[in-house]
Amino acid sequence: MHKIIIAIDGHSSCGKSTLARSLAQRLGYTYIDSGAMYRAVTLYLLRHGISAAERERIDAVLPKLQLSFNDKNEMLLNGENVEHEIRQMKVSNYVSEVAAVPEVRRAMVEQQQEMGRQRGIVMDGRDIGTVVFPDAELKIFLTASSQTRAQRRHEELRQKGYPSTIAEVEKNLAHRDHIDSTREDSPLKQAADAIIIDNTRLSREAQLARALELAHQAGATGSS
Ligand code: C5P
Repeated sequence: MHKIIIAIDGHSSCGKSTLARSLAQRLGYTYIDSGAMYRAVTLYLLRHGISAAERERIDAVLPKLQLSFNDKNEMLLNGENVEHEIRQMKVSNYVSEVAAVPEVRRAMVEQQQEMGRQRGIVMDGRDIGTVVFPDAELKIFLTASSQTRAQRRHEELRQKGYPSTIAEVEKNLAHRDHIDSTREDSPLKQAADAIIIDNTRLSREAQLARALELAHQAGATGSS
């Protein structure tokens, strides 16, 4: 079986995780949510009262952070399941500041590249096709209108029982998109060889079908 690397990048809340997870499942690949890793680092810093500006302190604590995923793709921080906590607004409101810190990025990218060594991986994030796996066989840049993204995210948070208002969600998405796209270190941008999928009017099934078609064209011979 020929295994490839699939990178899925895009703005906040355009459905990257949903697509990446189902694509990985269909191909029998590992799914990695790189955003969860930045969220876990953020949670750790918040718990320890360390700000994103304190780069030396951050550099000193990074080696103490053990990030891993359980078999349900839930984030573990030093063995503790933090999946629920990292999705809360207090983390969402600070994660882009933390993710702009070069020391944090270096540590995360190193771990992500290690996770992809065996190939057979679908990873979603902001810099996967540009920095983490510039040689990925398939790069998808997912996009959707900002209104659609805010509505979907609001609904998702509501279903999961995390309280938020649509205005709060819109503000958070705009804030993260701005920092993610304008930061100096690995800003969010479409890789030159990425294929755009605009899913504003696409069902989940249609997106998955398109992504599977692209994966096969790129040489994946998974179990789908
Ligand atoms: O994917 P998610 O929205 O959970 O990511 C949370 C944040 O982590 C993003 O807003 C971005 O600031 C950061 N991130 C990043 N690079 C990645 C993945 C996420 O900077 N590869």
